[in-house]
Amino acid sequence: MKGLMMDTPLLIPSLIGHAARCHAEVEICSLTVEGPMHRYGWGDCYARVQRLANALRSLGIEPGDRIATLAWNGYRHLELYYGVSGMGAVCHTVNPRLFADQIAYILNHAADRFIFVDLSFVALLEGLIDRLTRVEGVIIMTDEAHMPKTSLPNVLCYETLLAAEADHYDWPVLDERSASALCYTSGTTGNPKGTLYSHRSTVLHALGILIGSFALSGDDVVLPVVPLFHVQSWGIPHAAPLVGAKLVFNGPHFDGETLQRLFEEEQVTVSLGVPTIWLGLLDHLRQSGKRIDSLRMLISGGAAPPLSMVEAIERDYGVPINHGWGMTETSPVAAAGINPRRLASLAPDDRIKAKLKQGQALYGVDMKIVDDDGNRLPHDGKAAGELLVRGPWVTSGYYNDPEANADAFDAEGWFRTGDVASIEPDHHILITDRSKDLIKSGGEWISSIDLENTAMGNPDVAEAAAIAMPHPKWGERPLLVVVPRDGATPDKEGILAYLEDKIAKWWLPDDVVFTREIPHTATGKISKLELRRIYKDYVLPTAERAP
Ligand code: ADP
Repeated sequence: MKGLMMDTPLLIPSLIGHAARCHAEVEICSLTVEGPMHRYGWGDCYARVQRLANALRSLGIEPGDRIATLAWNGYRHLELYYGVSGMGAVCHTVNPRLFADQIAYILNHAADRFIFVDLSFVALLEGLIDRLTRVEGVIIMTDEAHMPKTSLPNVLCYETLLAAEADHYDWPVLDERSASALCYTSGTTGNPKGTLYSHRSTVLHALGILIGSFALSGDDVVLPVVPLFHVQSWGIPHAAPLVGAKLVFNGPHFDGETLQRLFEEEQVTVSLGVPTIWLGLLDHLRQSGKRIDSLRMLISGGAAPPLSMVEAIERDYGVPINHGWGMTETSPVAAAGINPRRLASLAPDDRIKAKLKQGQALYGVDMKIVDDDGNRLPHDGKAAGELLVRGPWVTSGYYNDPEANADAFDAEGWFRTGDVASIEPDHHILITDRSKDLIKSGGEWISSIDLENTAMGNPDVAEAAAIAMPHPKWGERPLLVVVPRDGATPDKEGILAYLEDKIAKWWLPDDVVFTREIPHTATGKISKLELRRIYKDYVLPTAERAP
């Protein structure tokens, strides 16, 4: 027997529609690339979102078409989240920090029809537009007064586009499983892989984080430092309008000084970012003597935070850290926060240490750990194995990528995270290692295999292996281990000079060491496990302790 309740689909425009009705005057403030702070309420935002949807229809956009963004956090990017997804197209946020080749690959793989670009990234796009096979036009996210001279073809101005349209749009009643957004994440081998979100997964994720430890309310002022181009800014753009929280966007500014100033001026209560951002903020606070007293919670995720960072923020500045875990493939939030009952039962020192755990599984996310043969391990807080997850906001397959999908899931259909974890009986998790071959620097991925393959193109190099080394500011930085070719005597400077124009600058290894032999596994692959063991006491020259 079926229930007799309305079968209303869970669609993204419903989120902002609610905010426009109930919280129209609550502000969204954005530091802009052009300079000044822009302010408006959820009501005005919604009107512009509808203008944008009309503009997209005028451009001939059809349901399912992909529309790319290359943009910082700001109000126009937020409008694209709602306008593009709402009218049935797919909002494809692209990470502008990637190397040009990867950006071109991603834009071609997604077959994006139009690109919306911030002023900051016009030059970047000019450098790769000739390689883009499907792009029909570019919309520069500014007004006529700030339009740059550009060699880009078919360029439009965002504000001019919106000005020509009506501020009402009849949202289509889509199937809630329709694709809404696309975000690529680094692959261990070669090319990035696309995670394709749906309206349903997005709405459920927004609700899921609100009933979990990220819970926001109408009193909150939220500053997501985590970019809108990175896993939908951890769900905040979709969760904030549900409760009528005020949003603050930091635009192109990520430094501690700007963040502290925004916290104070806008009375920010909750902010989210990776540990590298909070380390930068701490540096500034220590040097300036300034405070962050308006905050009631700092959310840290994307990488494991150092104990010293949690201690300083909690003890010296009195702001509780809320630590979460997730992935692009899990929308991203899958676990967050230590259960408040457990936290209350702990002594202050233990409370801080408990925060190093990645948190308790959210409602909706099932977790299991398995050994190398895929056998389940107990959830006893001791056994550690590869973490697998499933749930309504976990990917069921990468976009158009059979190769990546081949080993992304186990026989029961659970998604393999590539993280190694232990799970406690009440589903608090601790990430202990990573089985995927990647290096995470400042919250962004470096593919060790890409780095190795590029280095091996150097005629002086017989074999090369990249491993993650701990770094006090970036979390991890790459160390390149090189076996010179017979008769060759390469040096560090030569290797780095060779790599310089072939990879993104921030991918360059922090050090290069030479050895006669790199360890291999029985099947002939480089044994990263053994290599990590050999270099476990090695300290990068760049890794002096932060003050
Ligand atoms: P995000 O950076 O938003 O978490 P990514 O898809 O870029 O999303 O990265 C996900 C990966 O980052 C995880 O699989 C894990 O390896 C690592 N990671 C994420 N959060 C944490 C955390 N809190 N502690 C340790 N590693 C983490």
